Order: sequence, then structure tokens, then C-alpha cells
Amino acid sequence: MFVVFLKMMDTNQHALNLILSDLTIDPDLKRIAEKVEAGERISFDEGVILYEKGELGYLGILANYIREKLHGHKTYFNRNFHIEPTNLCVYDCKFCSYSRLIKQRSDGWEFTMDEMLDMVKKYDGQPVTEVHIVGGVLPQYDMKFYSDLFSAIKRHRPELHVKALTPVEYHYIFKKAKLDYATGMRLMKEAGLESMPGGGAEIFHPEVRDLIAKDKCTGDQWLQIHEEWHKLGQRSNATMLYGHIEKYWHRVDHMEQLRQLQDRTGGFQTFIPLKFRNKDNQMSNIDEVSVIEDLRNYAISRIYMDNFDHIKAYWAMISRNTAQLSLNFGVDDIDGTLDDTTKIYSMAGAEEQNPAMSTKELVNLIKQAGRHPIERDTLYNVVTDYANYTFEEEEEVKPQFYKLPVLNSTGAEV
Ligand code: SF4
Repeated sequence: MFVVFLKMMDTNQHALNLILSDLTIDPDLKRIAEKVEAGERISFDEGVILYEKGELGYLGILANYIREKLHGHKTYFNRNFHIEPTNLCVYDCKFCSYSRLIKQRSDGWEFTMDEMLDMVKKYDGQPVTEVHIVGGVLPQYDMKFYSDLFSAIKRHRPELHVKALTPVEYHYIFKKAKLDYATGMRLMKEAGLESMPGGGAEIFHPEVRDLIAKDKCTGDQWLQIHEEWHKLGQRSNATMLYGHIEKYWHRVDHMEQLRQLQDRTGGFQTFIPLKFRNKDNQMSNIDEVSVIEDLRNYAISRIYMDNFDHIKAYWAMISRNTAQLSLNFGVDDIDGTLDDTTKIYSMAGAEEQNPAMSTKELVNLIKQAGRHPIERDTLYNVVTDYANYTFEEEEEVKPQFYKLPVLNSTGAEV
């Protein structure tokens, strides 16, 4: 194993040396490569330079050097399912393909507490480790509702990790309950919340945020809520919605604010770039960026976010093939089995219209890319190392679907 590791390091160092010894390379890019080799942080301006001048091959070499220094070939996934309480929402984000306004109530779904507990119970006896709860924002899903939901899930299945809601929901429900962020997050923790997903971040800078998501929590409020959560000793993730109206410097500004908060708290686990998809939303006139830009963005994220342990690609959003490619561009995590329990990606036009992969399929996908699959729990404890694992036929547990309505652009169920 150690020999393999040394060979891997040799290959990466060799590729980096080629960049460092290239007499024709742009001096800015050379300086950044030197910093990466020395393990030094790159600056805001250097982040923008990477976006403006960095070609895919160059960025891939730098990002892979960092990725393999941190994780070798290890590539993480988990066994999870989603609950999306509703797709109705009081907000009207321009990029959102998922939500329906309250006046379009007949086009959406609103699950009751009992229905959501039934979804959890469908996984009784199955080796899932996490329930991921996120959806639209509605007045009736308030502090009491979510506290009761989290407590009920933990009572039913104490070992199932509850990863739920974003600052978008928390800002709304704390305001309604007249609670400050610190108190609200403490009460959520006491109710059973264990970690926060990274959604709702979009692009923090108001120049962009005010145009695409103007009514929900601001970038500062998003960051404050995560900071309060981290102060309780808890972990969370962070996302960035890229590839729409933002400029490159807005992306770097977004990552810079996350990097600074991470310096203060160390509470983030994973950074997840999310690709803007243009199906059935108010920004459908904007072309989606190319796969090359997706890979460049993953690579720059890996290079810039030097205090984040993990960079994740949602295979359900970018397709299985691009997820495999991303593993050479800084990504070390491709999310989970999902069991077709989320509509957020498919309704935005993702290639995967019924996202579900068995553990065996996920493991094979990672192995085909020459990487080492590790099933993790939410906090990156190793559940199973699949490097030399042989699947028995009977281990293939079929996903137990529950049906979410799939709506077309007119709101009709299809
Ligand atoms: S992105 Fe979230 S907050 Fe915005 S409209 Fe969609 S569901 Fe609502």
C-alpha cells in the first residue's frame, strides 16, 4: 500500500514539476503552482486569475495534487435518503425549478408529520445512516413542527443522523418564533438536529443575490447561522450555485467568505459547487455552462478552499460520467445512494430523472475511475472500506421508493 502511495505521489509531483519547469508558462500561473507545491494559501486575486487564465489541464494537475495529498485515492459516499417536506415556498428564487408559490398550491406537495415518519420507517432494517431533510419554506412548517419532527425521528431510530434545513428555513422560522440565531440553533440541537446541509448559499454577494434570490436570508445571515451552529460544536456543509449571471470574482468572493468563517470555526466539512440548471425556471434563457467549466470550477474550489477537508460533486446533478471525471479535478466525495427520494435535481433538468444508485453501483462507479471507495457516515467516519470488498448477490437491497409527484412546466403531474 505504501509503495502505491509513493508511486501516486511521484506521478503527481512529476506532473506538477512539468508545470514548474515550463519556461513558457504565464508567470501568475507559475507563482500559483509554486504556492500549491509549498502548501501555501492563494489570495483572492490569484483565485480570479485561476478562473480567467487557468486551462483545464493545468487546474486538474494542481487540484489533483492537493486532493491526493489529502485523501490519496479515497473517494467517499454515504447511504442516505431525502425527505422534502414540501415544494411550496413563500420565496420566489429566479433559478428555482422546484418550488411552486403558495397560490399554485394544487401543483405541489405538503407532507404531514405522519407521512414523513412513515418515510423514515420504510428504511427500518436498511443500512442507511443519514436522512437529509430540505425543501420549500411554508408558515406551517415552523419551529414546533420541525422540533417535533426531529425528536420523533430520533426517538424512532436514534442512530439515524438528522441532517436538516438550511439558514433559509432557520432564518424564517426563528424570525417567526422571535428567537435569535444562537437560541434557535441551540433548541434545534436539543430537538435532535445533528448537522446542517450546505444549501441556500447560492452566491453571497448582494449584486447577484438581490437579482436571483432577493427575499430570503442574506449572505451575511447565512454565514451567521452556520457560525452559531459551529459554536455549538456541530458540523455543516457549504454550497455555491455557479454558472448563471455571476462573474468569476463573485465566485471567489463567495469562497473567500466561507474560507474566513472556516478559519474562525473549523465547522465546515465539505464544499459543494452546484451547477445552475436552466429547465423550467425564470432564468431558462441563460445557457448552462459546459462540462469543462464544471471541472474547472471543481478544481479551483479544491485549490482555493484550503481549509475545507472535502469537495463534493452531487452525481445526481451532474451525471454519473461527469462525477467520475470530477474525481481527477479535486473532488473526493460524490454524495449518496439517494433512492430516488429527491426531486430538486431532476426538476431542474438534471440528466438523472430518478436518482438512485445501489451501494454496489456507487462502488463500481468509483472503482471504474481508478479510485478507492469508502462508505462514510455524515461525519466522515468510515463505515465500510470497499477496496477489496466482494458483494454477495443477496446484499443488493432494492431501493424502496416512495412516490413524489413529478411536475412538468405547466404544473401537471407526469
Ligand atoms: S430555492 Fe429554496 S427558498 Fe428559493 S424558491 Fe426554491 S425552495 Fe424556495
